[in-house]
Amino acid sequence: MPEAKYPRCARCPTKACEKLGARADDTSSPLEKAPAFCPMKLMPDVIEAALAEYARPEVGEFARLASVQEFQCYERLPDGLRTRNTRVEELIQFSRKCGYKRLGIAHCGGLAGEAARLTEILEANGFEVCSVQCKTGAVPKERLGLKPEEKIAGAEAWETMCNPIAQAMIINRSGVDLAVMLGLCIGHDTLFIKYCQVPLTVIAVKDRVLGHNPLAALYLKDSYYRRLKNKID
Ligand code: SF4
Repeated sequence: MPEAKYPRCARCPTKACEKLGARADDTSSPLEKAPAFCPMKLMPDVIEAALAEYARPEVGEFARLASVQEFQCYERLPDGLRTRNTRVEELIQFSRKCGYKRLGIAHCGGLAGEAARLTEILEANGFEVCSVQCKTGAVPKERLGLKPEEKIAGAEAWETMCNPIAQAMIINRSGVDLAVMLGLCIGHDTLFIKYCQVPLTVIAVKDRVLGHNPLAALYLKDSYYRRLKNKID
C-alpha cells in the first residue's frame, strides 16, 4: 500500500520533532528521521507561515504565556518531574496571566451543577462569571425538523433544542474575555466554536457514559471496551 501523503503524526514511530537538540552531539536533522507523511516534510511552508504568526506581538505574547503556564504545571523534585495543577487551576492561573476579568461559561443543561461549582470557584478567585446553558431560547426541537420519535423524552413531551448558536452570540455580547466550554454535545460544540468570537477554551467535554472522560474508553480499548475496535453503527 502506498504511504499516505497527508499528515499522520498519530502514526509516527519517530516523533523526531520532539527530539531536535535533545543531545548536543546529535547533529542529524529531525527531518531525516521523520516519516514521509510528516507535516514538516509535506508542508514546510506552513511551518514557516505559523512562525510568522508568532512574530506578531500579541500572538507571540499569548503563546509565551501559554507555554509559561504549561511550565508551571510541573515541579522538578529530587525524584523527578511531578505534575502540579488541575485544569481548573490552570484555567484560573492562565486567565490571570492574560489579565482576564470576565469569563463566560457555555454549558450543557445536563452539567448545570458542574457549571454552578465552576462559577463558585472562579468567583472566589476574583473573576466575574457569565454563564449560558445550551437550552437558552426555549425553542422546541421541532424547529430543527426533529420528528416526534427523535425526542429523548418521548414523542409527546416538550423538548427544548440545544441552541449553541444563541449560546455563542450571548457570550459574544456579554463582554467576556474568555469563553469556557463545559460539556457541550458533539456537534453542538462544533457550532458553538464556529459562532464564538472571543478567545475560547474547554474545561470539559461530554461523555454521558464515562463521567465526561471520553479517554477512559481509549484506556480500556484492549479490555472492557474492546468493542470499539469493531465497526461502530
Ligand atoms: S511532526 Fe513529523 S516527526 Fe513529529 S510526530 Fe509528526 S510525523 Fe512524527
